[in-house]
Amino acid sequence: MTEFAIADGRALGGSYRVVVTARSMMPAAVAALELTLHEIDAAASRFREDSELSRLNARRGGVVSPLLALAIGQALRGAEVTGGAVDPTVGCAVRLAGYDADFASVPSDGLALELVVQRVPGWETVQFDPASRMVLMPIGVELDLGATAKALAADLCAAAALKAVGSGGVLVSLGGDIALAGVPPEDGWPIQVSEDSSAVIEVGEETIAVTCGGVATSSTTVRRWNRGGAVLHHIIDPRTGLPAASPWRSATVVASSCVDANIASTAAIVLGTEAPSWLEERGMPARLVDAGGRVRRIGSWPNPEPGHSRLPADSQETRSRLVS
Ligand code: ADP
Ligand code: MG
Repeated sequence: MTEFAIADGRALGGSYRVVVTARSMMPAAVAALELTLHEIDAAASRFREDSELSRLNARRGGVVSPLLALAIGQALRGAEVTGGAVDPTVGCAVRLAGYDADFASVPSDGLALELVVQRVPGWETVQFDPASRMVLMPIGVELDLGATAKALAADLCAAAALKAVGSGGVLVSLGGDIALAGVPPEDGWPIQVSEDSSAVIEVGEETIAVTCGGVATSSTTVRRWNRGGAVLHHIIDPRTGLPAASPWRSATVVASSCVDANIASTAAIVLGTEAPSWLEERGMPARLVDAGGRVRRIGSWPNPEPGHSRLPADSQETRSRLVS
């Protein structure tokens, strides 16, 4: 059995975990991860007034850094491949629904909000030229990279940590959004599936084994709050600009990268009853939990068994990148 070294810390308003198989190299892995997290936070945080994203939103355009260009490119690709279910122009809608600061500072109760049903401006209104890294947005558009930037950060952290470590395999989890890099342990990376990333790891919980790519969970049960008796949460249906009225309270997806897994998990909540066929058509193994706690496993997602259940090898090979 492969042995791991594990390090935990806090970043991007949440927790991180890094696991390496080259145990003596953990300090190098942590240093590489923390540098990458710092760079992503400075580029793409919507909670820091001084982030590059906040400044871009304030002036509705400009030439952005290569890192922010990468994050915006991924967010717009996410919109394209999901037919707009995942759309970075939800910025205003997320804020108006009450999620206007780091989640720890959002009061769990408050007075009623007057929310208006209004389609978000739409990702097509954002002009972005990857070559010149020029962005232009009309009045009223605020970019929110929440559904892609943290997952992209996990992918970048895993790659940076692997480079720093130089051998073996690396797993990076940012609040439950997981990216894998390098050579996996013999039996794959054991990953406990929970709706809340702060759940403790326990024997007997549903666990899958994954060898490459990424795993992400989107949930409406953790980041939620009450306003005047109404329960609101952080995943917006771009068609209404309101928290999605989804039959699913959480969606976990395995894909060829963490960013693709997260695009698909957010999309699954928004797509609702269409999500199972959307995921199946794309060959993405997924686990959906409905409002009553019933679990639906999609595609090659394994049925739980004692120990951990490996995803079939072919599903890992054919797990396609989301393409338009
Ligand atoms: P989690 O934070 O539980 O991992 P997600 O990865 O699905 O959830 O990301 C949700 C975040 O993405 C929200 O907090 C918000 O910032 C942003 N967001 C909400 N709805 C959408 C949407 N339809 N498309 C793109 N981004 C969204
Ligand atoms: Mg996520």
